[in-house]
Amino acid sequence: MKAMEAPIQPIIDKAIEGERLTAYDCTALLESRDFVRIGLAAHEVRMRHNPTDIVTYIIDRNINYTNVCNVVCTFCAFYRRPGKPDTYVHSIEEIEKRIDETIALGGTGVLMQGGLHPDFNIEWYEDLLSTLHAKYPRFQLHCFSPPEIHNISLISKLDYVTIMQRLKAAGLNSMPGGGGEILDDEVRKRVSTKCNTQEWLDVMRAVHQVDQISTATMMFGIGDNISHRVKHLQRIRDVQDESLARKAETGTGGEFTAFIPWTFQRENTALGRKITEEPTGIDYLQMLAVSRLFLDNIQHIQASWLTQGLKLGQTALRFGADDMGSIMIEENVVSAAGAHVEANERDLRYQIREAGFTPQQRDILYNYIDRDNVDDIEVKKSLPLSQLSVAFAD
Ligand code: SF4
Repeated sequence: MKAMEAPIQPIIDKAIEGERLTAYDCTALLESRDFVRIGLAAHEVRMRHNPTDIVTYIIDRNINYTNVCNVVCTFCAFYRRPGKPDTYVHSIEEIEKRIDETIALGGTGVLMQGGLHPDFNIEWYEDLLSTLHAKYPRFQLHCFSPPEIHNISLISKLDYVTIMQRLKAAGLNSMPGGGGEILDDEVRKRVSTKCNTQEWLDVMRAVHQVDQISTATMMFGIGDNISHRVKHLQRIRDVQDESLARKAETGTGGEFTAFIPWTFQRENTALGRKITEEPTGIDYLQMLAVSRLFLDNIQHIQASWLTQGLKLGQTALRFGADDMGSIMIEENVVSAAGAHVEANERDLRYQIREAGFTPQQRDILYNYIDRDNVDDIEVKKSLPLSQLSVAFAD
């Protein structure tokens, strides 16, 4: 149940005028039931950050190089403990085969992540990246996450900046914001034994320090409340402030390019059997819209159609999102926990077009990718209403 509402119009006016919102403002917006007004404001602010009707998407592939994981997250249905019979580690040939298939479908990169393998040191990751980078020099390697970097630091006894410098030298292009969940230890400690809030944020500081970009995520509905979600947003905004200040001062440095919130997928998870309340579609849209209003220093907000379904993902485009994320040729982690939505490029372009926007493929750096005949794949999948009545009458 949401608490007594504070008046939100002055907060919305502030955001629209470009004034920074406080944590108190953010709390009031998340507690409000006026999600439509918040969504309209988020769209207006989205148009200030990205003043065009273009909605971008990327064609890439999730490759999960191993499911062996040394820690336990009660919200995860993907991992297997070391030594269990159904563990795997993909060979380099298997990874290359997946990359070849991705390139054939117009893909520009790979999002590669895995469990926290107890034996993989920095050299293992360097070998993997340098082999792939040598074979596919223009294919973008958007890989790993703060928990994996923290795991390397434990195994190889190296600090985060050194690890990131070495991975960058080996061919890493950027880092996904996985493993963020809720960046507040009161929640994290209850659901996971992986890296804590400070460690997650420090890895991202190191990523930006070595001049690489990353994204930031939030998975909510894991026993968190509004106050935890506000702290999460505040911590992301603070790190981004630091990164942007460094960039302004030195002319170099990375930053968060996008923020991607989604809701916990409960199927096949230990936590899913315990949680009694889960976020609704409105909770998702409101969280997305408030993120757009609060994160005034991050350019892109991404809709998560994979977890929310294509229709809610499309609706998110009117609640502050300007990007539809990935076509996702392969996904194994959230699908293990119940996200079974599939979409091809035509589906995604259709949803974007029908929401009143222009679809545009991009790469991980948000460069536009223009392929020949891409409009030909946009065949309408449903008849206009006028024709439907005829079809039914027949
Ligand atoms: S979420 Fe990642 S770190 Fe946690 S158990 Fe699953 S694979 Fe391991």
